[in-house]
Amino acid sequence: MNAPFRASARSSSGRRYGYLVVGAGFAGSVIAERLASQHGARVLLIDRRPHIGGNAYDEPNEAGILYHKYGPHIFHTNSQQVVDYLSQFTEWRPYEHRVRAVVRDRLVPIPINRTTLNELFDLDLKTDEEAADYLALRAEPVDEIRTSEDVVINAVGQELYELFFRGYTRKQWGLDPSELDKQVTSRIPTRTNTDDRYFSDTFQAMPLHGYTRMFERMLDHPLIEKRLGTDFRALKNQAHELADHVIYTGPIDEYFDFRFGKLPYRSLKFDHQTLDKEWNQPVAVVNYPDEQVPYTRISEYKHLTGQDSPVTTITYEYPSAEGDPYYPIPRPENQQLFKRYEGLADATDNVTFVGRLATYRYYNMDQIVGQALATFRRIDGKAKAAQSMPAAAEVALLSR
Ligand code: FAD
Ligand code: UDP
Repeated sequence: MNAPFRASARSSSGRRYGYLVVGAGFAGSVIAERLASQHGARVLLIDRRPHIGGNAYDEPNEAGILYHKYGPHIFHTNSQQVVDYLSQFTEWRPYEHRVRAVVRDRLVPIPINRTTLNELFDLDLKTDEEAADYLALRAEPVDEIRTSEDVVINAVGQELYELFFRGYTRKQWGLDPSELDKQVTSRIPTRTNTDDRYFSDTFQAMPLHGYTRMFERMLDHPLIEKRLGTDFRALKNQAHELADHVIYTGPIDEYFDFRFGKLPYRSLKFDHQTLDKEWNQPVAVVNYPDEQVPYTRISEYKHLTGQDSPVTTITYEYPSAEGDPYYPIPRPENQQLFKRYEGLADATDNVTFVGRLATYRYYNMDQIVGQALATFRRIDGKAKAAQSMPAAAEVALLSR
C-alpha cells in the first residue's frame, strides 16, 4: 500500500525527501533500502507499475501457483556479498536450474553437453576427452570472435549452431546472431561432461517465499514511502523541489525525452496458462530453437517453487519489438547511442542512473544488486566526505 506523505522530518535542505528513487525493481529497491537503513535518509520510491519488484515480481494466481508475471527469474550468483545482502530479507529454497531444448523432435540438454551429443547423434561418447575430440572435429575456428555467431561456430560448428542458436536468437532479438555482440550467446557454455545445469554459479537458489515477499521485507522501513502507479514523467518538473537527489532506474533514453532517438530495447509478450494436469514438462524451462515455432520457451513454475498442486501454471514467451523494454540489445551501434545518452547523464547534476535500463546493460539480477550496492557505497562516500566540508564545497561535491 502507498504510505501517506509525511510533512515532518524533511531533508537537511528543507526538501521533503533526501532521495526520489524511480523504479522499484532490484536497482531502485536496493538503493532505497540502503539509503534509509544506513543513512537515515527519507526516501520516496515510485514505480509506474502497480507493484514493487520490477521484472522479478511474482504473485500467486487464482490456482495458488506462484508465477512470475514477467517470465521466469532464476537466482544464481558467484558473489557472496550479494547473497549476504539479500539473505537479510529472505530465506532460500535450494534449486538448480535445468533446461531442455526441443531439437529434431527430441528433448535434449542445453547448454550442449556430452548427453546432448550422444542423444542427438546416436553416439556413445564416454569421457570428457571423447566429447572434446568430437566437438573439435565439428568446431570451425574463428580468428577474431566478435559476434554471437562467431562464439558458437567457433565452439561447436555450423550444424549445432543452426540447431540450437540461430533460430532461437533470431526470434528472441529480431536479429541474426551475426548482428549481435558476442556477449549474448557467450552466456551459454559448451560442456564436455554430463553436467546439465543451466548455470554453474556457486550459489543457486530461489527466494523461499518468492521475490515479491523479499522486496516487501526490503522496503518495509519507516523512512521509505512507496508511491506505486506513479510515472516519473508526471513528477519530473518538481523532482528537485521534492528531493535533494534522484536515483533513476528507468530507460535512459526516456529520461532525456529520446533526444538522440530511441535506444532499442527488446520486448516480450507473456502468455500465462494454468493447465488441468499435474505437470507439463520434465524441467522448469523448455527452449524451442526452431524458427518456425513462434515462441522461444515455455516455463513451468512448480519446478521453481516446489509447490504441490493437481494443476500447473506455464508461460509462453513471444519476443516482440513493441511493449515494455526488457532487454537492452547488445550491438556496437546501440552502445554508441547509449554512450551519447551516458554523456548527458554524466552532465546531469543530482541524478544517479543505475540498473539494467538506465545503464543499458544485459545484467542478471545479482549483477544489478552488485551495481546498486556499489552505487550506494559511492553516494555514501561522498556524503561522508561532505559532512566534514564547508557548505560550498559540499554542494559542489553532491552535484557531481
Ligand atoms: P527493472 O526490474 O526493469 O525495474 C525497473 C523499474 O522501473 C520497473 O519496475 C519500471 O516499471 C520502473 N520504471 C521505469 N520507468 C519509470 C518511470 N518513468 N516512472 C516510474 N517507474 C519507472 N535475471 C536473472 O538473474 N535470472 C533470470 O533467470 C532472469 N530471467 C529474466 C527473464 C526475463 C524475461 C527478463 C526480461 C529478465 C530476466 N532477468 C533475469 C534479468 C532481471 O530481470 C534484471 O536483471 C533485473 O530485474 C533488473 O532490475 P532493474 O531494477 O535494473 O530493472
Ligand atoms: N540462446 C539460444 N538458444 C538457446 C538458449 C539461448 O540461441 O537454447 C541464445 C539466445 O540468443 C539467448 C542467449 O543465448 O538470447 C542468452 O540466453 P539466456 O538463456 O541467458 O537468455 P535470457 O534468460 O537472458 O533470456
